[in-house]
Amino acid sequence: MVVKSLKLNNYRNLENTVFYPTDGINVIYGSNAQGKTNLIECLWLFTGGRSFRGSKESELVAFGKNQADTELCFQTREREQTIKFEIQSGKRFPILNDVPKSSLSQIVGSFCAVVFSPDHLTLIKNGPEERRSFIDGAICQLKPTYASLLGRYKKILGERNALLKDIPHHRELEDTLDIWNERLAVEGSAIAEQRIKYLNGLTVPAIKFYEGISSGREKLSLEYKMNCHANTDMSRSEIADAMLLSLRQKQSEDIYCGYTTTGMHRDDLIVKIDNMEARSFGSQGQQRSAVLALKLAEAEQIGEIKGENPVILLDDVLSELDNTRRNYLLKKLSGMQIFITCCDSFIEGKNIVRIENGKIIS
Ligand code: ATP
Ligand code: MG
Repeated sequence: MVVKSLKLNNYRNLENTVFYPTDGINVIYGSNAQGKTNLIECLWLFTGGRSFRGSKESELVAFGKNQADTELCFQTREREQTIKFEIQSGKRFPILNDVPKSSLSQIVGSFCAVVFSPDHLTLIKNGPEERRSFIDGAICQLKPTYASLLGRYKKILGERNALLKDIPHHRELEDTLDIWNERLAVEGSAIAEQRIKYLNGLTVPAIKFYEGISSGREKLSLEYKMNCHANTDMSRSEIADAMLLSLRQKQSEDIYCGYTTTGMHRDDLIVKIDNMEARSFGSQGQQRSAVLALKLAEAEQIGEIKGENPVILLDDVLSELDNTRRNYLLKKLSGMQIFITCCDSFIEGKNIVRIENGKIIS
């Protein structure tokens, strides 16, 4: 997959910009606060995902303007495609190949990218939610129907939670709770099955990349930990049974709390380095290497499963790596289109553009 052009108008501090990148490495450099991360963020949004900075859509529009317009033209194996966004009134309206789409989920899977910025360290550092969304986001790019599965689970969870809040005032409603338990277990086990399958494919390349990044000094391991008494060797129906049992066992506690304390929305991906949990015991460098290994593995998986490499977005990453790691990373990503931001143009001989005050200067 290759970006052919990016057009922006009133996107954050990028006023009226057209960018024609090269197929290989694109280095975007400039002083602080010029718009480098804004450009990477904008490219990422065409995957249909949310801003990796956690920004709301309204924050993407330039200060004092009502609307931002962005347009990406990219080449896939089959054909050239375009995605346009009109961002206004706190919403992002997608148009895929000139056909307006009613939701972002309808464009997910069209343009595939893997992004890595210093913010992604939270993937290891923060709670399980970040790791679940890493897995879910990765699966969505490969299998867009997975987004509707997640949506269904979220809806059922919301309805069960609303019921849990009502039960203390209307005890007779407690009898209806088991319907929601069963529905959650069915959808939850389908999600767990997809996550386990995805992680089974991701683990081997992630271990390989971590080994390469750490020059063979340390070993990475991944483990999907379910919140109910189920394990990753179980079949989908066995996982559903375990989830249902757990929901029933926790029913009184859930009524007391007013929300659902068990289910796949509480699962976690445990990342270990030399058998110790990276979140609690990993150094900054080890955590960064673990995220990098996961992201490289994600890119490789997309390439293998879709038969087409994703676009790689590296925001402020290279400056934090030593020369050996930097060279290893670029070698592993060769053959993919890469966008790298940094404060100086230390990579020579590639397409280098400078950003100054929201303007791209070639
Ligand atoms: P650094 O090297 O420090 O990471 P950068 O070039 O990546 O800098 P960006 O994060 O892209 O900088 O931000 C550039 C500028 O964009 C910031 O100064 C910020 O104030 C501005 N900015 C952010 N959102 C908006 C917006 N909605 N409208 C106008 N300007 C904005
Ligand atoms: Mg930046």
